[in-house]
Amino acid sequence: MEDNIPSSSETYTVKAGYDWVRGVHLVVPWCHLVWNKLNLPKTSFICWAIMHHRLLTKDRLLRMGMIVAPLCEICRVCSEDHQHFFVDCSYFLYCFNLLLASLRMTVQPANVVHWFSNARNVTKLQKRVFGAAYVALLYQIWMCRNEAKVSQFVKRPEVVVQQVLKDVKLRFHRLNMSKLNQRDSSWILNL
Ligand SMILES: [Zn+2]
Repeated sequence: MEDNIPSSSETYTVKAGYDWVRGVHLVVPWCHLVWNKLNLPKTSFICWAIMHHRLLTKDRLLRMGMIVAPLCEICRVCSEDHQHFFVDCSYFLYCFNLLLASLRMTVQPANVVHWFSNARNVTKLQKRVFGAAYVALLYQIWMCRNEAKVSQFVKRPEVVVQQVLKDVKLRFHRLNMSKLNQRDSSWILNL
């Protein structure tokens, strides 16, 4: 940390002091996806936990020594871990494709983080709305899994995606992002 102390020739501004206290941190590629202002805070938190593989999926519970059946609570076909739940699970993929169809976009589920940082064929608002919807979908999938664990009942994917779109549109209107161009206006009206 001492290496970062401003030399005597540098100006001792508040920013320099703050940067010194904070230290140097790498910017992770999913940072803007997780902390998108269109996200509801609860969905950002779950997404942050997913990016760190911190949710208590069954692979983690087994590693902790707990005795649990390893199969995914939703599809009951594959072992439950983060990669399965949020990329490979047939239920997740069905929901993800329904969401893409509603948003009229094409993104590969394993490529969302890269797409969010690099896509050039959509407007900034479309990217933000997609990001918020994707993060809300991860949240809803995790909630579905927890409900299925208790009740053995899995919500229909159409219901999950409707809830995701409803939450994102509500958040959008609450933030009053009203200065839209014609392309964005008609796109968001038709969601
Ligand atoms: Zn599954």
